[in-house]
Amino acid sequence: MNSVPILPGSTIGILGGGQLGRMTAMAAREMGYRVRALDPDANSASRYLVEEHLQASFEDADAAERLARESDVVTIEIEKVGIHCLERAAAFAPTRPGAKLLHIVQDRALQKAFLSGKGFPLGDYRTIATQAELGAALSELGGRTFVKVARGGYDGRGQFETETANDAAAAFAALGGERCVVEKALPIEMEISVMCARSPSGEIAVYPPAQNHHVDRILAWSALPAAIPDALRQQAEEIGREVALALGVEGLLCLELFVVAGALLLNEVAPRPHNSYHATVVGCGTSQFEQHVRAICDLPLGSVEVVRPAAIANLLGDLWVDGKTPAFDRALAHPGVRLHLYGKTGAKPGRKMGHLSATAATTAEATQLVQAAVATLQPGSLQPT
Ligand code: ADP
Ligand code: MG
Repeated sequence: MNSVPILPGSTIGILGGGQLGRMTAMAAREMGYRVRALDPDANSASRYLVEEHLQASFEDADAAERLARESDVVTIEIEKVGIHCLERAAAFAPTRPGAKLLHIVQDRALQKAFLSGKGFPLGDYRTIATQAELGAALSELGGRTFVKVARGGYDGRGQFETETANDAAAAFAALGGERCVVEKALPIEMEISVMCARSPSGEIAVYPPAQNHHVDRILAWSALPAAIPDALRQQAEEIGREVALALGVEGLLCLELFVVAGALLLNEVAPRPHNSYHATVVGCGTSQFEQHVRAICDLPLGSVEVVRPAAIANLLGDLWVDGKTPAFDRALAHPGVRLHLYGKTGAKPGRKMGHLSATAATTAEATQLVQAAVATLQPGSLQPT
């Protein structure tokens, strides 16, 4: 490999201006890079952190070309980018990750077929395109299932949980009659994730697994390192390394895994920074955002060591009751707790507005601390302490 490092002073183009792009831009700027972003929302979270903010659709190939022409490398912070846009961008700058990988990953059905085809462990699932196929899949799988649209779902959206095969019509209609994957509802003991970075030169770095807790299918809190047996940790890291290699990712790749009956099953993968690794910003030798920059610029990858156990708790729009800013002063009164807001206008229920982080001597203590801090923000807890 004779890939040339893209050194500070160069320009990084990011397709997507959400919080993941914003925090990548912050890390990039700290290292002396220039950053441009493309997002359909003129007020995206990245708006004031970038040299140029292109307001354009993720399907607008001309806009993607413009971004790439003015960038030394192009990356993504969201999967929902048109493949033709990434292909167009690739004619003008290296795109990391590439269009071939995104094509597989942005479609749940293709992603699962790829992963199971390579022999990675997945729960039982079917792919369906019609209501009749859904009915048959529900009968075959039996019991409760998760029906998920193949394309475009996130934060638990685009999903329908069924109880019996009789729910086929309701599920199919609720999900807009789209192609879906149907998964057996699994008796999950723990959810973990593994973040991998791979550079064009082939260097790979794998962070220790994070432990994740979802409420209503949205990540509520995440802690690093996950308190799991060493053998399971090694197994998770090995699967991460192998999937990163199989996909040939350039940049980041995060795996979401379920622990079921003591064994690991892959849920889904994402080729970008991930909500479950925000704790790396306060707990690790290198944040996931700096690692993203290093990987796409083909710099040496940074240390993945957890310097101090850390946890984060998401701040959803529900906390902004009647549009009022939550009492962050109360949360910040906890030593070790920090606030990370994404500069989004318009708090809506379920929308990720920011997160709190906490560091402590152990993962359990960091988790308790961040939960105690977030509890002070809940509506109804605003009386003086
Ligand atoms: P998203 O792309 O929105 O993150 P996921 O497929 O990761 O969607 O599902 C969100 C959450 O819903 C998971 O983290 C898990 O808590 C729960 N979930 C999803 N699939 C299953 C399943 N097959 N069995 C049990 N719980 C599931
Ligand atoms: Mg998920």
